[in-house]
Amino acid sequence: MASELHGGPRSRPLQSARSLPGTPHCLKHFPVDLRTSMDGKYKEIAEELFSRSLAESEMRSAPYEFPEDSPIEQLEERRQRLERQISQDVKLFKEQSEDLVDHLPKERDVLLEREFQRVSISGEEKCGVPFTDLLDAAKSVVKALFIREKYMGLSLQSFCKSTSRFLQVLSEKPLEMRFYEEIPETPMAADAPVHPPFTDQHPYEKCDPESMPSSLGFGLKMVNGVIHVYTKQDVTDKSTELDLPYPDLQEFIADMNVLMALIINGPIKSFCYRRLQYLSSKFQMHVLLNEMKELAAQKKVPHRDFYNIRKVDTHIHASSCMNQKHLLRFIKRAMKKHLEEIVHVEKGKEQTLKEVFETMNLTAYDLSVDTLDVHADRNTFHRFDKFNAKYNPIGESILREIFIKTDNRVSGKYFAHIIKEVMFDLEESKYQNAELRLSIYGRAWDEWDKLAKWAVSHKVHSNNVRWLVQVPRLFDVYRTKKQLANFQEMLENIFLPLFEVTIHPASHPELHLFLEHVDGFDSVDDESKPEHHIFNLDSPLPGNWVEEDNPPYSYYLYYMYANMTVLNHLRRKRGFHTFVLRPHCGEAGPIHHLVSGFMLSENISHGLLLRKAPVLQYLYYLAQIGIAMSPLSNNSLFLSYHRNPLPEYLSRGLIVSLSTDDPLQFHFTKEPLMEEYSIATQVWKLSSCDMCELARNSVLMSGFSHKVKSYWLGPHYLKEGPEGNDIRRTNVPGIRVAYRHETLCQELMLITQAVQTEELETIQEEDSLTMSSSLGAR
Ligand SMILES: [Zn+2]
Repeated sequence: MASELHGGPRSRPLQSARSLPGTPHCLKHFPVDLRTSMDGKYKEIAEELFSRSLAESEMRSAPYEFPEDSPIEQLEERRQRLERQISQDVKLFKEQSEDLVDHLPKERDVLLEREFQRVSISGEEKCGVPFTDLLDAAKSVVKALFIREKYMGLSLQSFCKSTSRFLQVLSEKPLEMRFYEEIPETPMAADAPVHPPFTDQHPYEKCDPESMPSSLGFGLKMVNGVIHVYTKQDVTDKSTELDLPYPDLQEFIADMNVLMALIINGPIKSFCYRRLQYLSSKFQMHVLLNEMKELAAQKKVPHRDFYNIRKVDTHIHASSCMNQKHLLRFIKRAMKKHLEEIVHVEKGKEQTLKEVFETMNLTAYDLSVDTLDVHADRNTFHRFDKFNAKYNPIGESILREIFIKTDNRVSGKYFAHIIKEVMFDLEESKYQNAELRLSIYGRAWDEWDKLAKWAVSHKVHSNNVRWLVQVPRLFDVYRTKKQLANFQEMLENIFLPLFEVTIHPASHPELHLFLEHVDGFDSVDDESKPEHHIFNLDSPLPGNWVEEDNPPYSYYLYYMYANMTVLNHLRRKRGFHTFVLRPHCGEAGPIHHLVSGFMLSENISHGLLLRKAPVLQYLYYLAQIGIAMSPLSNNSLFLSYHRNPLPEYLSRGLIVSLSTDDPLQFHFTKEPLMEEYSIATQVWKLSSCDMCELARNSVLMSGFSHKVKSYWLGPHYLKEGPEGNDIRRTNVPGIRVAYRHETLCQELMLITQAVQTEELETIQEEDSLTMSSSLGAR
């Protein structure tokens, strides 16, 4: 219809052959040579354009548009760009290698990788805020970083090397005074395999108390919530107390208050917000300019791709580490094979598995994923209580007790089996690893021994798995049931066995073995539960905490930290490995959780609320604190997927990793971690480089040993910047690592230089003051 109106079919289309010969007229006037590779091809290009506008185009976007919404065209465009990038790199490589062929043959690769495009900001005031604001903010930020460094050092947890280096310039204390420990490199060749050598012997086979390190014969006593160690069994003699570093409660409260004041200060907030915005935009520019180079670098690495780089599921609970189908099949199998086994005691009467299911009116045939009903659904959003109930298959706590508990009538046999099946799947996949959480509640003194016996007797171990021990914050529940007299009892139940086994390993032989595979502690529970107390100097000490109310989050964290600190020093004296604190933090609830987390923990899980607190987010960035994020879990509980801050954190350079939290409740496939990566990649359009960076972060923040990490990431992985990255193992381009490192250093430089300028100025001012006063005296 339209064509007829405009002259009908007879009107001739433009014939490009006649219209565009040679160099365009306008270009001839330019004094400089502006010829491009397109010269002489104008004709072809234009012809193409015209003919396309005539033909019914298959493509969704016009050729002069950038194919923003059309994935096929985008792919095509990217492919061509990539081809050009690779051919260009090859040329560049040839040119450079001719220059460098005599010297520095090894550094050639490093040089090449650093060849990427940077955006730099020039001018006097670089951060868009008045200098006085910058100064105030810089001083506060530095103060906060010093606070974290102090608590990390005291407890033998790690602190970001780059940040420490910049703080050192401002510190009066020499480096060695600041607990800085140089970890020796693992001696291995640069081309060693990516699989670390593991011994064939099962680590739980050598459970012989005779062969364990001898007892030190020390005595122990908990004083004001923290365990003290004495060189004699008699703990009444104060002079025998071992000199171990104890955090000071008063100082902690003061530090916490400093941070609390800082995160709500208007100018500092605005400064940090602007820096974070800047970091986002800068990353966008980096990607815009270097995306092709990053992709080309990845393609050049033989064999390595996203599937065969190491990933660690940094946050996953053992009791929900299998998916619902797996649990269902497992229960059905148990009903076939062990129907007559006594699995439960109800009011003194023993029950077989058959009887248990009969009382529930169920047969194996009835069971389906739907009757199991463990998956989170839309009813769990903002309802943590309903979510917690999902841990009970078929809504029956008895099934949870039989199948997913370590301490029951069958001594956790079924739970051990199903976890070993999950471990087997991980080993099969080779490159996937997990840090499973097991619970210690603090209700009884023998919980640790029972847990360790469970692990050792069932040989629940895999080289792909490390343990974290989670302590649920449920004092109020136990106290109401009169299971505990005060909070200190709970702390004693959690920590005394750990001190005992450190002093005298043979006294708890299984625990001694089990602890070798434990990274540290997690603190778990619903963070959105209201807190009725503020932790300050008026708060009752743990021995006096007898009320039925729950202590606040920071109270739990502080006492876990304090005891862990002492324990770590004792363990280091014995040559045992030390523990770290990795709590659930900032999933919901008050913002001060994230303040405690910043001060006391090596890394955290969730950190969702950082999106609302720019000062804290900036601090987490500068201190490079790991954040294990689980967007699928959040999507069912607290924050819908499209609002999740992970892509924003990642772009700004926070150390984030992807984790599953509870595959039983959230995932559908046998590879929940891959499911997590897959959805994140598709929803947020992550690049292959982003995915590999997330995976590398997950290994860095995990508790796998230094040696294992050396194999997975490269022997120099602890070095700062691109030197610490081995693309042949991580598949992360040096360009990306260099960009992250340079950006972090620039931020740290901005902050520390501002503080230094101020120092210089005060010195000068003081000089001029004394000058003028002496002048005035004349
Ligand atoms: Zn969790």
